[in-house]
Amino acid sequence: MARHGDRLLRFLFEEADVRGVLVRLEQSWRTVAERRPLPAPARDLLGELCAAGMLLSSSLKQHGSLTFQLTGDGPAQLLVVECTGERTLRGMARIEGEVTPGPLSRVAGTGQVVITAETDQGERYQGIAPLAGDDLATTLEEHLQRSEQLATRLWLAADGKTAAGLMLQRMPVHSGQDQDGWSRLTQLGATVTRKELLELDPSRLLRRLFHEETVRLFDPEPVRFHCGCSHERVTRMLQGLGYAEVSRIIEADNAIEVTCEFCGQNYRFNRLDAERLFAPVTPEGLSSTRH
Ligand SMILES: [Zn+2]
Repeated sequence: MARHGDRLLRFLFEEADVRGVLVRLEQSWRTVAERRPLPAPARDLLGELCAAGMLLSSSLKQHGSLTFQLTGDGPAQLLVVECTGERTLRGMARIEGEVTPGPLSRVAGTGQVVITAETDQGERYQGIAPLAGDDLATTLEEHLQRSEQLATRLWLAADGKTAAGLMLQRMPVHSGQDQDGWSRLTQLGATVTRKELLELDPSRLLRRLFHEETVRLFDPEPVRFHCGCSHERVTRMLQGLGYAEVSRIIEADNAIEVTCEFCGQNYRFNRLDAERLFAPVTPEGLSSTRH
C-alpha cells in the first residue's frame, strides 16, 4: 500500500510548453534504504536515483519499465533502480569500502548509468549516460539533451527518510505563446532548496515555486515499492546459466540458493528441482526426468 507521503504529481505549463513532475518517496524509499546498511553518501545517491527514476518514468504506459544501472570504479560500484508505469519502484546498491561525503565523482568514481526502457509492447531501448558533473542530476540532464534533444532540468534530494525530486522538461513541439517560459520556469525551479524538496509535499512545493504561473495539474498518483522477482524468473535465470554450471553448483553445495538483492526473498533449488529445470517438457506439460 502506498502511504500518504509517496506521491507523484505531474503538471503542465501549457502556454510555456513545459511539463513538470514532482515526486516524494517515503515508505517506498525506506523499504529500499533499510534493506541493507549503507553509508550515508551512497544511500543518498541511491535515493536520488530512485527519485530520478520515478521522474523519468512518469510518462511510461502501464506495463512499461525503466531501469537505471549505475556502475562506477569508486566505492558505489553498482546501484540499480527499476521503475514501472504502474508507479512502483525497487532498488539496490553494492558498496565496497569507505565512502566519504562529496561530489558524485568521489562516491561513484568514473562510470556510467545504463538506462534501459521497456515499452508496453516489450520492446527494449538502451542509452548510456557517462557520469558527468558533480551530481546525478547533471549526468541525466546532459544525457537527455544529447540523446533525445530534450531540454530537461532535474533537482534531486535524499536522506534516510525521504527521497524527492523535481523535473522540468521542455516539450518537443512549441506553440510559441510564451517565448521566455522555459528560462523563467527553470529559474523559478532553481530556487528550490534541498530542505524544501525533503520536507514539503508536492502540492505545497508546487505552489511555493510557481504561484504566479498558470499551471494545469493532474491527479497526484500513489507510488509504492514492489519487487517483481518470482520463482519463475529465478528459474529462467538458472536455465540461462546452463545445465553444466547449475550441475557444478549442485555438486559443490547440494542445492542452489538465490536471494533477491532488491527484496531479500530467498529461492532454493535442491538437486531434484535443478534436474527439473532442464527436463524436456512433454506434450501434456508434465516434466520427464533427464537421462
Ligand atoms: Zn525480489
